[in-house]
Amino acid sequence: MAQKRMVLLGAPGVGKGTQAKKLQEVFNLAHISTGDMLRDAVRQGTDSGIKAKEYMEKGELVPDDLIIDLVDERLGKDDCQEGFILDGFPRTVIQAEKLDMLLRKRGIGLDDVVTIDVPNEAIILRLSKRRVCDTCGYVLESDEANPGDPCPKCGEGTVIRRKDDGPESVRRRLEVYDEKTRSLIQYYDGRRLLKTVDGTGSPATIFDRLVGTLGLA
Ligand code: AMP
Repeated sequence: MAQKRMVLLGAPGVGKGTQAKKLQEVFNLAHISTGDMLRDAVRQGTDSGIKAKEYMEKGELVPDDLIIDLVDERLGKDDCQEGFILDGFPRTVIQAEKLDMLLRKRGIGLDDVVTIDVPNEAIILRLSKRRVCDTCGYVLESDEANPGDPCPKCGEGTVIRRKDDGPESVRRRLEVYDEKTRSLIQYYDGRRLLKTVDGTGSPATIFDRLVGTLGLA
């Protein structure tokens, strides 16, 4: 089975979560989504969740120290030892430098950084239609269910629109991506780790491109 330690980059809504979940299923790589971890923390009302909630609803980044501690703890778990996909982390150059340190202290490094590229107009359209389960985080296909319906995946949660998928937050999240996260593309390109995948088309088509680019086929 493939052993890969990788980062998925790309603006909110390019499909990082969907692709990471598929890579996890097919190649048994741990999926580390800092957005999912934070949403869990908010649901459970932990100290980190209480601190993060306000930033998240506005589409701002949560403070670096809060997120770095969560990632450090997660990387120590058993399922990460055979490889992992970081989705939504790092988001700033400071986080990328901290990630280098966290990996160095474990005697490992990154194999690949992939950025998924989608034009902003397509992202805004996708996010305006996105519906998720409030309990398991499942992202629904557009015609699968409506807000208020039970989740078709876990059956326990309710289908909702994420608060930060509203037009104001989406605009701010795309701005934050341009201001803070886009510079990571140069950071990883300079380390010769960066690969770019076209993120337009169906999830299955994008997955095939990703697998080819990563040499996992
Ligand atoms: P996502 O699901 O990746 O779009 O993340 C949702 C929200 O969680 C973001 O808009 C941020 O508020 C917060 N978040 C997730 N990952 C990070 C990170 N690496 N650094 C700071 N904030 C984050």
